[in-house]
Amino acid sequence: DVTATKGNDFEDYFLKRELLMGIFEKGFEKPSPIQEESIPIALVGRDVLARAKNGTGKTAAFCIPVLEKVDTTRNAIQALILVPTRELALQTAQVCKEMGKYLNVEVMVTTGGTSLKDDIMRLYSTIHIVVATPGRILDLANKNVAKLNDCRVLCMDEADKLLSPEFEPIIEQLIGFLPRDRQIMLYSATFPVTVKHFKERWLNKPYIVNLMDELTLKGITQYYAFVEEKQKVHCLNTLFSKLRINQSIIFCNSVNRVELLAKKITELGYSCFYIHAKMLQSHRNRVFHDFRNGLCRNLVSSDLFTRGIDIQSVNVVINFDFPKNAETYLHRVGRSGRFGHLGLAVNLITYEDRLNL
Ligand code: ADP
Ligand code: MG
Repeated sequence: DVTATKGNDFEDYFLKRELLMGIFEKGFEKPSPIQEESIPIALVGRDVLARAKNGTGKTAAFCIPVLEKVDTTRNAIQALILVPTRELALQTAQVCKEMGKYLNVEVMVTTGGTSLKDDIMRLYSTIHIVVATPGRILDLANKNVAKLNDCRVLCMDEADKLLSPEFEPIIEQLIGFLPRDRQIMLYSATFPVTVKHFKERWLNKPYIVNLMDELTLKGITQYYAFVEEKQKVHCLNTLFSKLRINQSIIFCNSVNRVELLAKKITELGYSCFYIHAKMLQSHRNRVFHDFRNGLCRNLVSSDLFTRGIDIQSVNVVINFDFPKNAETYLHRVGRSGRFGHLGLAVNLITYEDRLNL
């Protein structure tokens, strides 16, 4: 069982009583292995680079030490949690707020696609923890509205994504705003070698946790079907009629294909939402919220939902389009089978895909 532990308890970490109450109220009884490995180390202030399977509780592994460290009597941003997408920022902030419910902690989410003015107003009041996508928080730091000179903890979730060329320059600028005696924590299920450069440059004797083994996708049964492009919709129709879908996420490789496929699925008579990064943020938020609340069985998505999204009732992931790299595959498929639940992944693979494998 991927969630089986050594037998530690949350009580063993000497956390604030109010924090323990929040953890238990979320229904967590015992720390998962990644939590056992990284919470004590993070609490003593060491840099951490932690790798663990999808759905095994990395969010709490960094939120708990962050919440423990924050001094709510002080009016300063004391921790910054970075994530690559807006939806993941909302989800992570929600976890933080729930666990910090009895702590009087102020958690703020700031991402692109929302009113900058509202964020600026919000930052006039007390904020202890900021959960952000990189671009917006850098903007606020550059404007000297978000003051990060007291922010001694930086967590990066989906860290390898945040260190990809698209984000890395922003991350390095952000680090420039932090005090020298900062703690940096990186979490992901995948750490390609490209992260090495960042590690050597910015981490101070990091404690390295690696809970990945060859059974990376344990609990998720994976199938594939060789199909021609024009058979894909028919194949999907068959899958819908045969599989016991609680909720499913169906991945396509482009925004256009997401919209087209969602339309076809609706025409076939199945309930279906879609989401991608070219939609208005308000629309994205509504789809995310409604899908999470089970208002719809199937969601067609671009890679926007590939990382971090945690919806326990998703038991089926379908790669309508086969992903372009192994990391993407692992993260997409990991949207099912959360925290010990069983999941199913089906891959539609064309002749062209096979040439690229
Ligand atoms: P990861 O980031 O590793 O993919 P998440 O942090 O999203 O995983 O957690 C996956 C699910 O497991 C969440 O729904 C979370 O509430 C649940 N979870 C995490 N830790 C525990 C725990 N110690 N006990 C019970 N459930 C947990
Ligand atoms: Mg996660």
